[in-house]
Amino acid sequence: MSVEIKTTCCYCGAGCQLLFTVDKEANKILDIHPVPGRTNDSKACLKGWYGWDYLNDPQILTKRLREPMIRKGGKNSPLEIVSWDEAVKFVADNFKKVKEKWGPNSFLAAASARGPGNEAGYITQKFARAVMGTNNIDHCARICHAASVAGSMQTIGEGAMSLSIPEIEDAEVIFNIGYNAATSHPIVARRIVRAKEKGCYIICADPRITETARISDLHLQLKGGANVALVNALANVIISEGLMDKEFVKAHTKGFDDFWAIVKDYTPEYSSGITGLSAEDIRFTARKYASSKHSVILWGMGVTQFSQGVETVKCCCSLAMLTGNFGHYACGTGPVRGQNNVQGTCDMGDLPNVYPGYQDVANPAIQAKFEKAWGVKLSGVAGIQLTRVPELVQHESDPAKRIHAYYITGEDPCQSDPDLDEIRESLDMIDFVVVQDIFWNKTCEHADAILPATAWGEHDGVYTSSDRGFQRIRKVLEPAGNIKTDWEITCLIATAMGYKMHYNNTEEIWNELIDLCPKFTGATYEKLEKLGSIQWPCWDKGMEDKGTMFLHAGGHFATPDGIGILKTSPYHPPVEVENTEYPLTLCTVREVGHYSVRTMTGNCRLLRNLEDEPGWVEMSPEQAGQLGVKQGDIVKIVSKRGFAFTRAKPTERVKTGAVYMTYQWWIGACNELTISALDPSSKTPEYKYCAARIEKIPDQKWAEEEVARRYTDIRNRMRITKEGLPA
Ligand code: SF4
Repeated sequence: MSVEIKTTCCYCGAGCQLLFTVDKEANKILDIHPVPGRTNDSKACLKGWYGWDYLNDPQILTKRLREPMIRKGGKNSPLEIVSWDEAVKFVADNFKKVKEKWGPNSFLAAASARGPGNEAGYITQKFARAVMGTNNIDHCARICHAASVAGSMQTIGEGAMSLSIPEIEDAEVIFNIGYNAATSHPIVARRIVRAKEKGCYIICADPRITETARISDLHLQLKGGANVALVNALANVIISEGLMDKEFVKAHTKGFDDFWAIVKDYTPEYSSGITGLSAEDIRFTARKYASSKHSVILWGMGVTQFSQGVETVKCCCSLAMLTGNFGHYACGTGPVRGQNNVQGTCDMGDLPNVYPGYQDVANPAIQAKFEKAWGVKLSGVAGIQLTRVPELVQHESDPAKRIHAYYITGEDPCQSDPDLDEIRESLDMIDFVVVQDIFWNKTCEHADAILPATAWGEHDGVYTSSDRGFQRIRKVLEPAGNIKTDWEITCLIATAMGYKMHYNNTEEIWNELIDLCPKFTGATYEKLEKLGSIQWPCWDKGMEDKGTMFLHAGGHFATPDGIGILKTSPYHPPVEVENTEYPLTLCTVREVGHYSVRTMTGNCRLLRNLEDEPGWVEMSPEQAGQLGVKQGDIVKIVSKRGFAFTRAKPTERVKTGAVYMTYQWWIGACNELTISALDPSSKTPEYKYCAARIEKIPDQKWAEEEVARRYTDIRNRMRITKEGLPA
């Protein structure tokens, strides 16, 4: 018998709705197609259409994890399959041991912003806080949009998109900075194209000629790392030419004098020297942006993954305030979240400084509320960010202040974090590492225990789209093997440690969550079933209330006094710049067919066929000529931290001096090279800028064989045998 099951796509924050047709008896997917949803307008991109194949476990890259495994004899002993009882006891005993010996703050948990869903995210942070007694809980927003959260919170009081995805197509001006929707969120890119068709003027600030740049009316091909100099200059022009919305600024903002004291120096001529743009283009952009009350700023990781990411975000929010572009339809700021549930995982309080619903851990009244609900004493001290692991493992001289236990759920830091050599060393120095995931990944090699979890499509729950929209995900297939949902696993560990956590289903978890979070109160499962999508804040349980389409209505910001704060800072160059030994700048970018660390998309037959190892490095044709390499040649790319082999891809898209790599490849792993320099406020790494050099390999036959040998070696290491153990 076949049934139809509607769910939300698991690949990006666009939150597209998909309908599966499933043969229930055979437990097999028969068909999938996009259906109408609030954000997707009955459309899906290629990942939505073809990205579910990993549920069939085709074993292209790795096999699914199907059994719990532990290293009974300590770090260097082999992994052994054990029962869930034994695995849970092993993990609980070791977490307890670390807590008793080193204290609560020696533990860190990484929640997953991918498949598990909001309920699992809620349970992970509850485990860290209520069971381990620490606010050391974080997730991958740290390495992507944490700067958006920090910069927006510090200026407008709310860290999410102020507008909704459908509003984008009614904007009159879109200032798109460091964001290529075509690869990150193809369905959002459609809205940008629709906006253009309706007459919107599109300005794209990006060092590369991206798809967005190609359709833009004005492409500002600025130098990498110069965002702050550009946005400060836009503010300078808006203020000095009298283009500011004086009434809005007077009624709804503060901090103007301090703001002007900084941006007054950033004349277009001065910024031109930093950005490489013409003063004329900077002036034109400012005038155009300020000319409409339906101006939208969209940004992605081309803003946030810099050591000045937070400062750029603050100034983007300030530009919108200066021009009165907040609080009404089709205007505002859009930090468009990458992974499917990175917004939701922030919403769930998987952050070191806030409980679920962005409630401050340092606020005694909030702390008391959660203590009462959870029946424990909680810490009022903000925790640490996961990007500080190397510092707090390798460089902290006081053992009592180090991380001694790391609970990693649905993340692969050995592929996704900067400076992989440093990460691998750090993980090996941590007393006890637990990986909870769906596929064997690079981080599993460093784990003391591996706990197999269900994937998207195998459990129920809720995701939050990038524009604050709660949407249901549903179980499509019965999971195979001895695996459990993420939230069940965490509850079992908590209970084994003496703190009873038991829920019968995700709705019970969700109800506990929305009772504790005023902003989410109205988003009951019943309403989600009826309405499909509810955007927070959603205060009202009334069945018709769909929540909030755009934030800051009437210029009332989410700051404590309702007043927005104009902020920016002076420009400084990236931490590691080009030099004689490393004359190129390396920037990491995204590729449309692959997602994150590739364990999911790399195990989908059609997506996998689009590209393969060792990936590629984009360079200008002039650069390729200087290096003496041609399209497809294997080259060695080197930074101070490591090297990788990849293929040369000469393209007119990039300027000479800058090179670009995508981050999902095992052999062409750009994070062997990236730098772990962090934004001082958000602790987000500067993935978008480090110094590198490219070496030509004269013997291409050797290079091909070397890449093949490395690929075989890593596949052998990652392979799971028939019995479920690594080979
Ligand atoms: Fe999935 Fe994003 Fe593609 Fe939509 S745009 S189908 S949510 S990957």
